[in-house]
Amino acid sequence: RESLKRIKETENLKAFITVTGNEAEELAKQSEKRYKNGQPLSDMDGVIIGIKDNFCTKGISTTCASKMLENFKPPYNATAYQRFLDAGAILIGKTNLDQFAMGSGTINSIYGVTKNNWGCKDDDNFYIAGGSSGGSAVAVATGACFACLGSDTGGSVRNPASYCGVIGLKPTYGLISRLGLIPLVNSMDVVGILTRTVDDTVSVLNTIAGFDEKDSTSLTKPFKKIRLPPASKMKINGIKIGIPLEYNVEYLSEEVANVWNDIASMLKSEGAIIKPVSLPHTEYSIVVYSILNQCEVTSNMARYDGIEFGLRAREDYSTEKLYSTTRRLGFDEVVKGRILAGNYFLLASNYDKYFTKALKSRRLILNDFDNVWNEVDFLLTPTTLTEAPLYKDYVGQDNRHRLVEDYCTQAANLAGIPAISVPIKLSKNGLPLSIQLMGRNLSEPMLLAVSKFIE
Ligand code: GLN
Repeated sequence: RESLKRIKETENLKAFITVTGNEAEELAKQSEKRYKNGQPLSDMDGVIIGIKDNFCTKGISTTCASKMLENFKPPYNATAYQRFLDAGAILIGKTNLDQFAMGSGTINSIYGVTKNNWGCKDDDNFYIAGGSSGGSAVAVATGACFACLGSDTGGSVRNPASYCGVIGLKPTYGLISRLGLIPLVNSMDVVGILTRTVDDTVSVLNTIAGFDEKDSTSLTKPFKKIRLPPASKMKINGIKIGIPLEYNVEYLSEEVANVWNDIASMLKSEGAIIKPVSLPHTEYSIVVYSILNQCEVTSNMARYDGIEFGLRAREDYSTEKLYSTTRRLGFDEVVKGRILAGNYFLLASNYDKYFTKALKSRRLILNDFDNVWNEVDFLLTPTTLTEAPLYKDYVGQDNRHRLVEDYCTQAANLAGIPAISVPIKLSKNGLPLSIQLMGRNLSEPMLLAVSKFIE
C-alpha cells in the first residue's frame, strides 16, 4: 500500500504503464500468510518489484509502449519474472520504455515521456530519465519499488540508472534467461537489474540468474549464488583497474570527467593498481552496433503482421494490405526507420559491405576486450557522457549528438561482458553523476564487490 501511494504521488513522472493493484494485493496476502508461519521464503518474499513493459507477464498487459501491442496479454511468464514469483516477490507494475526498447531517453512511448525525478520542475521543464528502461530507473529512484527489471541491448539499463542515480547492472550475456523478454537484438539483449544498492542487486541476481532450458542462449554453467563481504571488510589491494584512453571523447562533460578521475584516484589510494589501457576498435562500436541492431530489428519485427497477435488493421482488400496497414499504424517512426535501414543493409548487394563487415568489426571489438584482460581485471569508464539533459535540449539535439550518448555502454553488449553503473555524487545542477565498471565474462562476484566498495 505504501508503494501504491508512492506511485500515485509520483504519477506525473510517468514511470508506470500498468499498475497491478489487485494482483499485487493478492500476492501480498499470500506473502503475509507465509510470514505468519515463520520465516520468509527468501530474500525476495514480500518484496515489491516493477518490470519493464517488454517482459511477458501472464494475463497482464505487455505493451512494449507501442500501439502494436496495446491490447496484448501474454499467455506465459518471462522466466526472470517467474523466478521472482517463485521466490515470493510482488509485482506492483509494468514500467515505461521507448517503443520496443529502441532509444535512450524513454521519450518515444505511446504512454508519454518518463520524467527524471531529479530536478523535475514542472510538466514542461524537466530532465529526461534516460532509456530505454527509464520507467524502471524512476520507479526505483522514487522508492516505488525495491527493484526493477530492465533490458539492456546497448545501454538501456545503465544509461537511465546513471541519469537517475541508481545501480544498473548488465550481466554477462546468457546469465539470466531471455525467455519472455520481447526481443530487440537477440545477440545483445540481456535482462538487467536496477536497485538502490549493490547488495540489493546481488539479492535480485541470486533470485533470477541461472540456466533455463527454454532459452537456447542461456549459459549452462551452474550459477553460484553471490555473497558479498560487509563493506568494512572489503579490500581492493592489488586489483588492476584499466582506464581506457578511447573513452576520453568529444562531448564528455567536465563534471563526468572529474568524477571518473576522482574514483580512479580513490581506488589507487586504497591500494588498487590503476593503469591506462587501449581498446583501439572502440571508436567503431557505435556504427557496428547501429548496423547489427537494425539488421536484427528487421528480422524480429517481422512477427508483427496483424495476424498472430497484437494490432490488426481493419483491412480486407488483401493479406499484403493487411500486413502493411497494420505495420503503418502500429509502429512509430523510430521502429519504421530501423526496419527500413535493416532491410537496406541486408539487401544482397549490400550484405557484405555492411552486415558481414559489421560482424567482423564486432569480433575486433571483442578481441580488444580479450586482450585487455591480460593486463587488467576491470575497466573504469563513465556510463554516460553528461548528466541527464533537459528534455527540451535533448529533443533539439542533432542525431549525431544523441547517438554518442551510448558511446560508453554499447561495446559491452557487442562483447557480451558484464558492466555496471554506480552513482557517485550530484552535479552542480543537482543531478546524479555515475561511473561504469566492466569486467570479463562471469566476473559478476568481483565486479559487484568492487562496485560495493565504490558506492
Ligand atoms: N539506445 C540504444 C538503442 O536505441 C540501446 C537500446 C537498448 O539497450 N535497448 O538501440
